[in-house]
Amino acid sequence: MKIYLDGALVDSADAKISVFDHGLLYGDGIFEGIRLYGGNVFRLDEHLERLEYSAKAILLTLPWTRQQISDAVCETCRANGLRDGYIRLVVTRGVGDLGLSPWLCKLPSIFIIADKIALYPAKYYTEGLEIVTVATRRMNPAALSPAIKSLNYLNNIMAKIEARQAGALEAIMLNDQGFVAECTGDNIFIVHKGKILTPSAQQGALKGITRDEIFSIAKELGVPIEEHSLTRYDVWNADEVFLTGTGAEVIPVVKLDGRTIGTGAPGPIFGRVLESFRRRVLTEGTRI
Ligand code: PMP
Repeated sequence: MKIYLDGALVDSADAKISVFDHGLLYGDGIFEGIRLYGGNVFRLDEHLERLEYSAKAILLTLPWTRQQISDAVCETCRANGLRDGYIRLVVTRGVGDLGLSPWLCKLPSIFIIADKIALYPAKYYTEGLEIVTVATRRMNPAALSPAIKSLNYLNNIMAKIEARQAGALEAIMLNDQGFVAECTGDNIFIVHKGKILTPSAQQGALKGITRDEIFSIAKELGVPIEEHSLTRYDVWNADEVFLTGTGAEVIPVVKLDGRTIGTGAPGPIFGRVLESFRRRVLTEGTRI
């Protein structure tokens, strides 16, 4: 496998970064998870825009243009002969000393991994996921904005561990006020009386690229959609629930904390959304 690392494609065995890189020492860095479908990179520009916003938010100056990063992403996919896959684009603060000071890190590092995608097992797309609510709260936006896609994922990892201890593949994380924020690696949507609702970034949701796509799909389908604060009560009483993410795509949820949602089977609005999503990913995107 070829990895793009700081301007060159290298073998994965040679793709190494310093132990003094602050991305490793402190999680000081940002990333994107991107999908390649049939030789097209889905919503690449949107991912690169979010990367730029994340960089700006942590005062990290990207020394590459959007076009240069875009070219590097496509080049990495081509070098690995991929047509379908998952792309991990990472920018670290770079090499510094053992202190926190980001200004001592002279140059950010960039690396890009393009690999096969490991999705949820196929049966969950037809039967639906059973998820739980975990005790670990989503980080307060005043402490670290969840809109920043940073390398510091320990908050989500703690929640993921709790989900697994409870036998679930994904978990709802509440914010510090008890409102639904998102899942450990996915955004959450509910359908109630024909309307799609999802928590806002202010409630602790990452502004997911797939989440944005759901807003556009809902418009196309003529289904009302809005950001709304949600409690577990709203999820229990929803007609349908589904999750979205670059890796997960759009996946239905049929149980929360052992309670059946709606009819206990993936619902009709989810079905229409998924159909539109699958069509879009195959027909739109940046050719590699
Ligand atoms: N929330 C979190 C915490 C995430 O890590 C992700 C990405 N895996 C998402 C939501 C979904 O975002 P996107 O649709 O951009 O992949």
